[in-house]
Amino acid sequence: MKKFLSLTLSVVMILGLVACATKQAQTSSASAENSSAKLVMCTNAEFPPYEYKDGGEFMGIDVECAKLIGEKLGVEVEILDIAFDSLIPTVMSGKADFAMAGMTVTEDRKENVDFSHTYQKAVQTIVVPVNSTIETVDDMYGKKIGVQTGTTGDIYCSDDFGEESMERYSKIVDGFQAMKTGKIDAVVVDDQVAKAIVAQDETSFKILETAYAEEEYAIAVKKGNTELLNKINTVIDEIKSNGELKSIVDKYIK
Ligand code: GLN
Repeated sequence: MKKFLSLTLSVVMILGLVACATKQAQTSSASAENSSAKLVMCTNAEFPPYEYKDGGEFMGIDVECAKLIGEKLGVEVEILDIAFDSLIPTVMSGKADFAMAGMTVTEDRKENVDFSHTYQKAVQTIVVPVNSTIETVDDMYGKKIGVQTGTTGDIYCSDDFGEESMERYSKIVDGFQAMKTGKIDAVVVDDQVAKAIVAQDETSFKILETAYAEEEYAIAVKKGNTELLNKINTVIDEIKSNGELKSIVDKYIK
């Protein structure tokens, strides 16, 4: 009986693998150029409450907004979950139609992608251990600072505090883990993400009141893809003015 069970299990697992492989093949071949009924969104699902995985399912403000955009445009939205610093190259190559990942609009990024109208404001915040002596931005000189690779937190901190201060992680939760074990002194990350992570561990971390940088999120599309950009902008304007965006945000940010 046991043998039969394990055989059945392996068959199920093989079938599952085949299904996964087929799905991946579809994902990588899809793009605006060769598919009209589907849009591929790339994101980095390590960024609650904007995008994360819960029980294998993609959740979050960006995920729901993207689905709503798809609904309104009459297309299916497929999610490609990749590293944050691969998002812009993936949009540039056409492997994804757009990137939506709590992505801040910056002048440098604008040289490589086009940004939609903005849909959220954010603040880069400093998180430290509860017993830290760091109180202001100036106290961070000479300290070890954790950031997610390629984010604005990474870019600004590298500029302000120098390469020797930087500890980079592909998932910001790993930075929090390193801070918990005393390997680094602070984490710089977007405010809502800081709040979501700190809320899970309030006895370990605190968020400084000083705002490090203020910014705005938008969707990135391939440079020159004005057709898609205009469609996305129309939906963003609509959901901003009719309250649909706010009701998604309110579900995730109390
Ligand atoms: N808003 C930051 C940026 O655009 C961080 C985004 C993220 O880590 N998903 O760089």
